[in-house]
Amino acid sequence: MAQELSQSGKPSESLSQRELIERLCHMGAGALAAALGAGVAGTLGAGCQSGSAPSNAGTGRKFRYGMVIDTRRCIGCRACVVACKAENKTPPGVSYTVVLENALGPRPNDRPLFMTKPCFHCENPPCVSVCPVGATYKRSQDGIVVVDYDRCIGCRYCITGCPYGARYFDYGEHYESTGGVMAEVPSPEYGQYRVRQLGKSPVGNVRKCTFCMHLQDEQGRYDKAAGRWPACVKTCPGHALFFGDFNDPESEVARLLQERPAVRLKEELGTEPNVYYLL
Ligand code: SF4
Ligand code: SF4
Repeated sequence: MAQELSQSGKPSESLSQRELIERLCHMGAGALAAALGAGVAGTLGAGCQSGSAPSNAGTGRKFRYGMVIDTRRCIGCRACVVACKAENKTPPGVSYTVVLENALGPRPNDRPLFMTKPCFHCENPPCVSVCPVGATYKRSQDGIVVVDYDRCIGCRYCITGCPYGARYFDYGEHYESTGGVMAEVPSPEYGQYRVRQLGKSPVGNVRKCTFCMHLQDEQGRYDKAAGRWPACVKTCPGHALFFGDFNDPESEVARLLQERPAVRLKEELGTEPNVYYLL
């Protein structure tokens, strides 16, 4: 049975996961902020959507890649975080995906709520408009938001511009426990296989999730059966992560949004994230 929110605006006792998120969905942004208490709503204000997948209508794009995340299936194991690190060879302090725990508030008598959070590859990405040198942009063929390491001057405006904390600066560190091995293994991202060295990109650049776009074929297609699929999704043991082309009505992600209500974070900002959380 759901408990009422306390006067402080925080859940006084545990709500079920579905009850909690559904309740948030029916609040306006202001009420949501009050309900969640200081700090949290500013990070995770949620908006609701049900029964429709986004389309490429008007974008002229071939693909609209995105993710659907089932918060009811995530067990918080963080295998996705590790898989992403192994795939993209990211250094300390750089995680293209993270898992938040109970970001919507304490839930003492219920199982924790985990939320995997990659880059949302927003339709209207504020990180792009603040870049003074055009080093970060949204790709015209598939909507993936990328960073051109050869143009990036490391000013970090985009880190400030992203309302979801999805960007990271590469300070040139490496994992000591690996004896520097990870630092010396080139990352396949962007198909560039750069070896990280001080003074050379991507050290000194901003880095972010690319939906593992180096796994696309020449036509820009992924292939799940062949393993050419984002590492986090491929690895998730709870089958909580789904990836695909929202523009294809037969895709798993499009069908999930047809079948189940979902939320996007900070919907009120108009960023139109391409990552949805199922209720
Ligand atoms: Fe840019 Fe942040 Fe949106 Fe990713 S989540 S596209 S980094 S604003
Ligand atoms: Fe652009 Fe790089 Fe500055 Fe980000 S850090 S705003 S990508 S130049």
